Amino acid sequence: MGIVVMKFGGTSVGSIERIKNVARIIAKKKDQGHDVACVVSAMSGETDRLINLLKEIDPKYSPREYDQLVSTGESASSPLVAQSLISMGYPAVSLTGIQIGMVTNGAHSNSRIMDVKADRIREEFKKGKICIIAGFQGLFPETGDITTLGRGGSDTSAVAVAAALKANVCEIYTDVDGVYTADPRIVKHAKKLDKISYDEMLELASLGAKVLQSRSVELGMNHNVDIMVLSSLEDKPGTLVTKEDSDMEQVVVTGVVSDKNQAKITITAVPDNPGIASKIFNKIADSNINVDVIVQNVGKDGNTDMSFTVQKTDILRATDVCNAIAKEIGAKEVLADENIAKVSIVGVGMRSHAGVAAKMFSLLAENNINIKMITTSEIKVSCVVEEKFSELAVRILHEAFVEA
Ligand code: ADP
Ligand code: ASP
Ligand code: MG
Repeated sequence: MGIVVMKFGGTSVGSIERIKNVARIIAKKKDQGHDVACVVSAMSGETDRLINLLKEIDPKYSPREYDQLVSTGESASSPLVAQSLISMGYPAVSLTGIQIGMVTNGAHSNSRIMDVKADRIREEFKKGKICIIAGFQGLFPETGDITTLGRGGSDTSAVAVAAALKANVCEIYTDVDGVYTADPRIVKHAKKLDKISYDEMLELASLGAKVLQSRSVELGMNHNVDIMVLSSLEDKPGTLVTKEDSDMEQVVVTGVVSDKNQAKITITAVPDNPGIASKIFNKIADSNINVDVIVQNVGKDGNTDMSFTVQKTDILRATDVCNAIAKEIGAKEVLADENIAKVSIVGVGMRSHAGVAAKMFSLLAENNINIKMITTSEIKVSCVVEEKFSELAVRILHEAFVEA
């Protein structure tokens, strides 16, 4: 007996029938004698529907209005889950991000959590209530405005609630029964992992594996909260995301992942002077745009080309910012390419195995897939390729590194 924190994603609460199924899973936990806090996402498709409505009015919408609008998806699903429990005879209460004291840093559409006060949750526990919490949303106290945590942010809400309540584990229920060696929708032979280290999961999530939002893994790692990924549709063992142990190092490549939500920007003929890169990337950072892979070509005639990737959703803003910078520093032009994807292999075993990157480049070359950019870290290798090759590349790499 103790505190259990659960989270159910969009598909799991996607219809009234599914919501009733979720209520039964929560009720079972309550019957075991636990205090239960459960974070829920918007019903599947709802967040996209709301974003599309806003874009129809203006593609360069106000970030404040975006948050005010999209946070309603979770504000709607949480009372539906709470009501299902109440109707089954279980005491439950739905709570918004504001009501649980989810304090964020105020960056609209992509906020970070600064604190979770959770007093209200503790009070409701004392009354014997199950708390059904709207994920994805928080409050920036300085402006009194609602903020959201980035796509997939309910995972992060859940781990933050688990950390605040000092729960040892956060159960993330979704539409797959765990974390696989690749997205099971892309690779038929992908294998379910019993456990995976925080570091590897953090890389997989940051590199495009949608199953967990990367910040949720970061929070779990920093606050020692294990994350258990489970199916809401089948009662099966899931995948534990936890501290690294010695078995994990035996495997060279734990997972293969791709991210199509990337776009490449090139600023051509940038004056090759000290301080130019800092000028460009500081301006971009000031606009809250995350830059990923950066490549600077060898300078020629005192000029150089600078390429980098951003999230596709940031491309309009990033191009605007870069056009202004290009003018200021006297660069030639700004080119945007949305038809790219990043394909990566991840594994802690790479630390002790040589030649992994070289093998990845050879496999891509043998299949006539051109590499546009490369980036590596201790436990991953990523290549930017043409978007149309993304799934083929994942299958080839999975077959060679994981299935072999
Ligand atoms: P939820 O709505 O429950 O938050 P998501 O759609 O955000 O669920 O995440 C679950 C999906 O993540 C799965 O349906 C699966 O297609 C995808 N996915 C991508 N990579 C992986 C992976 N390595 N293991 C498991 N699922 C993955
Ligand atoms: N509803 C939000 C989204 O679709 C948050 C989440 O589901 O985690 O991104
Ligand atoms: Mg998700």
